Amino acid sequence: MAAVVQAHERECAVCTNDFTTPKILPCGHLFCRECVISWMDSKSDAGCPLCTCPIVEHQGNSSQIAADVVDALPTDSVMEVIVESASLLVMVDLCTVCEDLTAEYICMHCFEKMCPSCMKIHKKMVVSRSHDVESVSTVTPERLAASRPALCADHVTEKADFFCVDHNLAICTQCFSNKHRTCLDVKSLDEKIQSAEDAFGSLREKMLTAEDNLKKAIVNLNARVQTADVTQQQNMALVDKTCDRLQSMVDECRRQVKKLISDSVSKFKKSLCDVKSELEKRLGKVTSHKHLVTRATAVRPRPALIHAAQTLTDRVNSLDLSDELEAEPWVNPSSEITRYCDDVVKVIGEELKSFKLQLLVVEVSSLFNLSHVQHDLI
Ligand SMILES: [Zn+2]
Ligand SMILES: [Zn+2]
Ligand SMILES: [Zn+2]
Ligand SMILES: [Zn+2]
Ligand SMILES: [Zn+2]
Ligand SMILES: [Zn+2]
Repeated sequence: MAAVVQAHERECAVCTNDFTTPKILPCGHLFCRECVISWMDSKSDAGCPLCTCPIVEHQGNSSQIAADVVDALPTDSVMEVIVESASLLVMVDLCTVCEDLTAEYICMHCFEKMCPSCMKIHKKMVVSRSHDVESVSTVTPERLAASRPALCADHVTEKADFFCVDHNLAICTQCFSNKHRTCLDVKSLDEKIQSAEDAFGSLREKMLTAEDNLKKAIVNLNARVQTADVTQQQNMALVDKTCDRLQSMVDECRRQVKKLISDSVSKFKKSLCDVKSELEKRLGKVTSHKHLVTRATAVRPRPALIHAAQTLTDRVNSLDLSDELEAEPWVNPSSEITRYCDDVVKVIGEELKSFKLQLLVVEVSSLFNLSHVQHDLI
């Protein structure tokens, strides 16, 4: 039925001895009554020595005396009986029958510790033949606690058969008909034990359900943490992707604008070059005709000079001597650049707008989930 209680589970974490009047703190941890009192006296607003949870659930009045606070905490009566049984087993006693030899056995029915020979007699006697006798070294404290007979609160030698609810006591038949004659609520002990077992059954059920729900809620929270991580990664990737695209748009814009500028300058430079080579052609003609004229003037052959003067005058008159030739004006590409940049700015603006819409939302239904879990716990 019950899980075996390990020896260390009977120990108080403060004094490291087996519990004496184990008190149940609101967190569920157990400590001896005296240990909690001295712990609380040692420092104000002391919490549980193990988990620091408050010792009193609603610590309204800190001026309360520690002993009163601790006495108001419930006592773990099951642990009390287990500790008592454990110390009974550990104690080296003389046989309760012969009072001569060391007791090595215990009768689970009469609760008497016996030496091996008295144990053999106990097992032969008609009244005790059916009794379960165990070795003191092998029986567990909780098995001993479970087989302990309920004794009358007043006559510790009498077995209790009733439970007076009015006095909250187990009582024997004799006490039932005397002291508790006028008590209003007295039930058979078996009936009270059965209802206590039923109560434990439903408490266990309740704790199992709550434990299960809390574990599920924690698993759910872990899953949500993971989802948040994944969403973050996806959003980061989206940011990178979008920024890369915008960056390449900006790069393309830079390339195009530079091309516009260099195209317009190249065109202008080409026009200047054209004008220059035209003027150089004119210069060449002028220079060679200047030689002809200079030579004629220096040599002066008669009558060739007359013919030459006629021919060269006609020739020079036909030459273009002008130094005026306009290059094509430079066309500033700024309006085209402005149009181009405006388009890119517009596209980037729209990209950014849709980018905000594409970002994944981490949580929408957190409030709902939480209230759902809390509802399950009630
Ligand atoms: Zn203690
Ligand atoms: Zn605690
Ligand atoms: Zn004996
Ligand atoms: Zn016996
Ligand atoms: Zn009694
Ligand atoms: Zn009574």
